[in-house]
Amino acid sequence: MQAAEQPAILNRDSHKWGQPAKMKSTTRSVPTTRGIKRIDLAYVQLATSESARDINRDVVLEIIRSQQPVARADLARASGLQPSTVSAIVEQLIAEKWVKEGAIERRPRGRHPTLLALNDGLVILTADIRPKQAIVALLDLNGRFLAREVVPLVSEPESSISKIISCMKAMRAGYPNRSFEGIGISMPGRVDSESQRLILAPNLKWGSYDIKSDIEKEMRLQVELTNAANAALLAELWSGKLDGIRNAVLITVSEGVGGAILANGQIVTSRSGLAGEFGHSPIDPTGPQCGCGQHGCWEVFASSTAALRYYAEIRPEEASVNIHELLHLAEEEDPAAITALTRQATCLGRGLRLVTVALSPEVILIAGDITTSWARFGPIVQAELEATMLAGSAPQLGITNDGEFARLRGAAAVVLQRHSGYQRSGSKVTRAKTSHPTRS
Ligand SMILES: [Zn+2]
Repeated sequence: MQAAEQPAILNRDSHKWGQPAKMKSTTRSVPTTRGIKRIDLAYVQLATSESARDINRDVVLEIIRSQQPVARADLARASGLQPSTVSAIVEQLIAEKWVKEGAIERRPRGRHPTLLALNDGLVILTADIRPKQAIVALLDLNGRFLAREVVPLVSEPESSISKIISCMKAMRAGYPNRSFEGIGISMPGRVDSESQRLILAPNLKWGSYDIKSDIEKEMRLQVELTNAANAALLAELWSGKLDGIRNAVLITVSEGVGGAILANGQIVTSRSGLAGEFGHSPIDPTGPQCGCGQHGCWEVFASSTAALRYYAEIRPEEASVNIHELLHLAEEEDPAAITALTRQATCLGRGLRLVTVALSPEVILIAGDITTSWARFGPIVQAELEATMLAGSAPQLGITNDGEFARLRGAAAVVLQRHSGYQRSGSKVTRAKTSHPTRS
């Protein structure tokens, strides 16, 4: 069983958006299709014995992850694979350090199997970069936080990254016996998945500075950059809460408003990684100027920054409060704070029409500051969402409940996905560029 003292990426939370996950016997029950299918030959890849083996490997690893500690015989039963195939895959996973053998299970009859679990000696460094600060954290393969530190940032990217690198080096020095798998970084902007360069971050303004190369050079570990909303969505997927849901949208509400899309079971990043920027859809061309250069984007009305602006309009003498103080003021029934946050919640709910008309998801999840007072402001968002539906009932509306940890967990998950064999993106299946590049 997993340690229960801390939240884990991999814990199957009792709070689920989707249907309870069934074990992956679905690999055996896919109906055979008969007919003709249009195939885009630009993207097709033939099934090989190697790709079949890697799919089976991913299935076995997922069963270990969700059912650990687990015996080999139980893996064979749960996966439907031959015991000899399972044994070969397990040997490979142990050699690759993903899995370790642990306790011996005492059974009343027959053999006493050695149980398998994820190797929590393997760790991932992560950072959640925001305009004014970064949170640097160390997670193990079971998603437990071993260390966590806040690093204040300056406007200049080189100095900011150098502070993050120093923090990561100190963290690594504190765990000399762990094996470092890589570094995952959540960015408040869009990252081109091919070039791994930041191509849009209106609230960060770091230009085209090459974050990845500088950190890789200093840390000698592979770095993966990802968008904050995609990281938060990935953390939800890994937690199992979205099992059974194929179409969902996650909206992050902080300095700006970001979005991540799960469509037909796949996270959609699309061309240049720019999909999901609902926050920069124009709502009112006469509205305030947005960081992207346009006027009246959804985010200038629905972000935490917007709530602070609404408050400053009512109480100009107290314009220096931050969002946490504003939420606290509302909890203490400060009328100006309640008015400001109600206005933000109304704009947030109204703008969700952008999401429902474009994608008609089953679930919409909100992550970010306003969710800490969801009991008060959630119903306002819900009412606006329902009032703006084009047809049918509104999607299920929820919050991620994981606060700042979601981005860190998601960034760690990106590292694990990239390194665990095959990275799947739509129908295109490509082998990850490197596996275990410079594990120390
Ligand atoms: Zn904008």
